[in-house]
Amino acid sequence: MESNLKKELDCDILICGAGLAGLSLTYRALKANKWRDAKIIILDNSGKRQNDKTWSFWKTGEVPFEELIYKTWHNLSVFSNSGEKISLKSGGYSYNSINSLDFYQYVLAFLETQTNVQFLHEEVLSIDSTEQSCIARTSTSTIRASYIFNSVYQQPELNKHTQYFLQHFKGVVIKSAEISMNTDEAFLMDFRTGQDHGTTFFYSLPISADKLFVEYTLFSKSLLNQEDYDVAIQQYIKNVLKLSEYEVLHTEFGVIPMTDYQFKRTKNRITNIGTIGGDTRGATGYTFTNVQKTITKILEAWPPEKNNLLKEHISKKHKMYDAILLNVLDDKQYPGHKLFCDLFKNTEANHIFKFLDAETSIIEDRHVIFSLDPFPFLKALNTVLRNKI
Ligand SMILES: Cc1cc2nc3c(=O)[nH]c(=O)nc-3n(C[C@H](O)[C@H](O)[C@H](O)COP(=O)(O)OP(=O)(O)OC[C@H]3O[C@@H](n4cnc5c(N)ncnc54)[C@H](O)[C@@H]3O)c2cc1C
Repeated sequence: MESNLKKELDCDILICGAGLAGLSLTYRALKANKWRDAKIIILDNSGKRQNDKTWSFWKTGEVPFEELIYKTWHNLSVFSNSGEKISLKSGGYSYNSINSLDFYQYVLAFLETQTNVQFLHEEVLSIDSTEQSCIARTSTSTIRASYIFNSVYQQPELNKHTQYFLQHFKGVVIKSAEISMNTDEAFLMDFRTGQDHGTTFFYSLPISADKLFVEYTLFSKSLLNQEDYDVAIQQYIKNVLKLSEYEVLHTEFGVIPMTDYQFKRTKNRITNIGTIGGDTRGATGYTFTNVQKTITKILEAWPPEKNNLLKEHISKKHKMYDAILLNVLDDKQYPGHKLFCDLFKNTEANHIFKFLDAETSIIEDRHVIFSLDPFPFLKALNTVLRNKI
């Protein structure tokens, strides 16, 4: 009975999930004149009308959506748990932020003018593909497509050896006349907070002379109670930043998987993009740049030929480094706050950024590897190799 009521739709390209990856891909494909003649359906269960994320990333040259960057920082610093300030040598890299609402509005304003693009506000229940075609089901529609690009995240089934950390955080934008920070200096990790729940730090980005983005971030395997994030943020603002009067203008909460699970990129004519496609770096949770690199590769290879697999920019070698790091964090012998401070103290940040962008050769990897205590890493390497067998 239910199936008789379902809409039957056909298209060339179905985008499941209209977030960072789905919208970036559709926008960039149309701007590059790749999908002008294709019938495109975009399926998402949310209205995309909220500023739900701030996407920040380091970069050297121009990046897609450069025009949406609302703030750039050229000076980057880290504070150790004991309060030592480490000023990074960023070697031409800057740190940049985009508000997700600016991105949604900008991309949707363009897509809504495209007559070959249709939006469906429905929840994807399932997707499947044969070698010839794809199908997606929602509670009210059955959609057949030549290709699906999917960014709807589901936690994968893990085996007992898989590391699955959560990067969980609460961020606030505060306004205070007492702020006296250099507005061109971003604090990527400020460990001047308790480390009882795992690797824990504040991430502070001065937005203007009287506005600051402060985020309480943890790498651990379970979440805190909401009030614990609030208390930690209040204590940091009062005791570390020494601000007594401030107003909270905006709040965001997020959870990003940090895992060595190997996400599958393709199944027949389905291509997974974004976090579900493996674009979230296991060691850091950073995703924005990887999504854009994946899209560049998809568009360069368009139209896809049979069995032509996307060449992944996060290589097996870099995924193995991520697995090793996650095992070191899990082992807890080398506390995360010490590990990251050793890294930033002993390696120029440009080497670290290049490494985290998966752009380093084995010879360049030495900058990062030799800055860290080797024994916990050798132990973790042994664990990773043993688990692979
Ligand atoms: C609060 C927050 C801040 C972040 N900050 C950064 C950062 O600073 N830098 C960085 O590099 N990365 C950051 N990330 C990580 C990453 O960039 C984001 O998670 C990014 O949005 C991932 O892109 P995506 O397209 O995979 O997923 P999303 O952008 O989440 O898009 C997925 C879409 O699928 C839709 N959807 C979900 N389920 C269904 C369903 N069943 N049916 C239909 N639609 C569905 C959702 O509504 C959403 O629009 C952040 C993540 C969060 C949560």
